[in-house]
Amino acid sequence: MKDNARIPLVDLCSQYDDIKKEIDSAILNIVQEGSFIRGSSVSLFERNFANYIGVGHCIGVGNGTDALELILKSLEIGSGDEVIVPAVSWIATAEAVSNVGAEPVFADIKDDDYTINPNDIVKKITARTKAIIPVHLYGCPCDMDEIMHIAGKNHLYVVEDCAQAHGAEYKGRKIGSFGIASAFSFFPSKNLGAFGDAGGVVSNTKELAEKIRMYANHGQLNIRHSHHVIGRNSRLDTIQAAILDVKLNYLDNWNSKRREAAEEYSKMLCNSHSYTLPHSSLDKNHVFHIYAIRCKFRNKLMLELDASGISSAIHYPHPLPFLEAYSYKNSVREEFPVASAFCSETVSLPLYPEISAHQIRRVSENLISNDPANN
Ligand SMILES: *Cc1c(COP(=O)(O)O)cnc(C)c1O
Repeated sequence: MKDNARIPLVDLCSQYDDIKKEIDSAILNIVQEGSFIRGSSVSLFERNFANYIGVGHCIGVGNGTDALELILKSLEIGSGDEVIVPAVSWIATAEAVSNVGAEPVFADIKDDDYTINPNDIVKKITARTKAIIPVHLYGCPCDMDEIMHIAGKNHLYVVEDCAQAHGAEYKGRKIGSFGIASAFSFFPSKNLGAFGDAGGVVSNTKELAEKIRMYANHGQLNIRHSHHVIGRNSRLDTIQAAILDVKLNYLDNWNSKRREAAEEYSKMLCNSHSYTLPHSSLDKNHVFHIYAIRCKFRNKLMLELDASGISSAIHYPHPLPFLEAYSYKNSVREEFPVASAFCSETVSLPLYPEISAHQIRRVSENLISNDPANN
């Protein structure tokens, strides 16, 4: 790549170039077999992904949002129930709760690593609360000891939203293995991404896993035309499963490269006082789906970066309770002080496994030159 070429936020093409032969032959196999729905490629990936996370079961589904919704539905969470979710996430986390007829109740995030604040979870529990959905935001594990403790004490389910955190670990244990069931998204730009929409549920509970599989496949289990419940159609495509099975072998290596890139950014930016860098903790093995910094002049900074050929993005510009979709809740900023400040300051920098040292240096030098504290 030319030295001054635009630096994208993510680069899916360079990853494909590295493993093109393997991916092409996996796709061609499915096309030549002419078997596009379910089949051995799906069950093989399900087994390999369950083994990777260290759980008994994986069910491939259509996307990560469906994964969350199918878990809640199978736990019989619905009308009259409340589910606690963080005030900062992709909207899918709250949407899944709303779409099963339950009420999402937002909890504020922590000021250090921006995951859901266990103290605020406790404040939001009512007699109607049925579950907590911790989101491992940006690839950073939530405070799982505290969350599991609160859930145990209050008889609540924990459903992990792992859409941004494939391979992340909390105290040496893979995230996705803590909750009663966990949702993964394999959206193309996630740490493990398909070539289109795809998702998965993992669980250690056999009965729940079977129920989820049943709901995802028109209420059928093993016998065709035996529809036990009113289900829906949310399956993992066979071609996507074959692609994911190839990519799963590279996930740990890609995650280490993401971590190395993040360390490089943090090293280069550590003396710039206008930027708050991602927090690190020995208990949490962060997989940097996103490398975000905080900055009080975020919008101006993004324009400067753009003018220098550097892409950036905001994850996310508004806390979930302040989106129009949730305006009926009449939430106030004082209820979510950390989320409110965070969403006005966060900015995501280019980061992907194949990003070069030169690209990281170019982004960092640009940030340093835009830091008013240095000028
Ligand atoms: C991507 C994402 C989802 C939804 O996944 P899709 O596969 O796009 O439906 C859910 N939660 C979080 C936190 C995400 O980042």
